[in-house]
Amino acid sequence: MCSDKSKQSISLERCSELKTRIQDYLDIKDTIPKGLSPLQEEKMLSKKKKILEILNGTESDWNDWKWQLKNRISDVSLLSKIINLTDSEIDSIKKVEQKYRWGITPYYTSLIDDDDKFNPIKLQSIPTFLELDDRGVLDPMSEEFTNPAGSITRRYPDRLIINVTNVCPSFCRHCQRRRNIGCIDEHKSKETLQESINYIKANTEIRDVLLTGGDALMLSDNTLDWLLNELFSINTVDYVRIGTRCPVTMPQRITDDLLKILKKYRPIYINTHFNHPLEITQDAKAACDKLANSGIPLGNQAVLLNGINNDKYIMRLLNQELLKCRVKPYYIFHAKNVIGTHHFNTSIDDGIEIMEYLRGYTSGMAIPTYIVNAPNGNGKTPLLPEYIISRGKNYVTIRTWEGKIFNYPNYPTDDFNSMIDKNN
Ligand code: SF4
Repeated sequence: MCSDKSKQSISLERCSELKTRIQDYLDIKDTIPKGLSPLQEEKMLSKKKKILEILNGTESDWNDWKWQLKNRISDVSLLSKIINLTDSEIDSIKKVEQKYRWGITPYYTSLIDDDDKFNPIKLQSIPTFLELDDRGVLDPMSEEFTNPAGSITRRYPDRLIINVTNVCPSFCRHCQRRRNIGCIDEHKSKETLQESINYIKANTEIRDVLLTGGDALMLSDNTLDWLLNELFSINTVDYVRIGTRCPVTMPQRITDDLLKILKKYRPIYINTHFNHPLEITQDAKAACDKLANSGIPLGNQAVLLNGINNDKYIMRLLNQELLKCRVKPYYIFHAKNVIGTHHFNTSIDDGIEIMEYLRGYTSGMAIPTYIVNAPNGNGKTPLLPEYIISRGKNYVTIRTWEGKIFNYPNYPTDDFNSMIDKNN
C-alpha cells in the first residue's frame, strides 16, 4: 500500500511529465496570429477606417449586411487602394477573374494584414495565378448524379441537402463547390425549393435536412422563414441544419430579425466554417454569441488547407478558440481534388499528424473528426491515427495518446486488473 505522501509524490511526478508534453505548444502559441488579440483588433480597425473612407460609408453602413454584400470588393483597382498588391499579384487577379469569380466583403477585407506576406485571410480570398493550374476536376463528388429532385443532393439513407442559393458573402479561393458559384448571384427559385420540399414529404425516411449552397443565410429573411416553416411542418423531419460562413466573412448578417426567425423553429443546428484563429474576431465572436444565446448549437467545419492551417499548433489553437465562442469543432475536411484549388491540397499525412497532436494534448471537446470524402459521392470517411495495434480473440492491443502500449481485454472479465498488470 502506498502512503498518502508517496501517492502525492507520484501524482506530482506525473503532472510535471504532463507539463512537458505541451511545452512545445506553450512556447509557440502566442506567436500564432489570432483575431481576438489587441494587436490584430487595432490593425483591423485601422483598415476598416480606410475602407469606409474609400467606399464613402458610415459606421451604420458597416454594420448593415446588405451594405456589406452590395459593396463586396471584386474590382482589382479598388482592392489595390485598400491592401498592398504587387504588379504580379494584380496581373494574377486579372487573369484568374476571367475564369473564376472573386469577391470579398469589406469586413473580411479589413482582416487582411499587409505586414503578413502569407496572411491566411488574403490567401483564402484573393485569387492567385496558382488557380490557373488545371489539375483536378470540377465535381469530385459527382453531385450531379445525386440530385433526385429540385435542388437536392442525397448521398445518405436518412438525410439530404437542399442547395438553396449560390450566393456567398465572400468567395473562398479554396471553395470545394466552386462549380456552383458561377458568374452571377442566383437564389434557387421558389418552385425549385418547393420541388425539394415535396420530395422530402414523399420520402418519409428523411429526418435531417441541411440547407446550404453557397451560403444558406444569404436567403432573405422572408424566404428563410417560409422555407423553415415548410420543413418544420413535415412531421418526419426531426431537425434542420444550416451551413453558413456568415459568422466568419460577414457577421453583420446575424441580425435581431434573423434571430427572431431562427428562434421560431427548433431544433436548428448551424455549422460554420472557420479555418484560422485570425478569423475569430470580436465581431465573429459576437455573431456566434448571438446565435448560441438564441439556443442554436454551433459546429465548425474547417477545411485542411496547405499554407493556412495544415499545422498541428494552428489547428489546436483554432479549435480551442472556437470552444471559447461556444462553437464545437465538428469536422476537418480533407480538401478534395477540385480544379483551381490544387495549391491548397495537403497530404493525408498532414491530417493524421494533426489528429495525433490533438487527442490527449487538448480536451476531447476540441477534437473534430477528420474526414475524407470518398470519390464519386461515396460518403464521408473518418480517418484516425492508429490506436488499435492488433486484435486478438481475448484482447486488443491499444496505443495511448502518449504512445504507451497496453493489452486490453476484448470481453468484460472479472480478472480485468490482473490481466492489465500481467501485460505491462
Ligand atoms: S462560403 Fe462556402 S460555398 Fe461559399 S465560397 Fe466559401 S467555401 Fe464556397
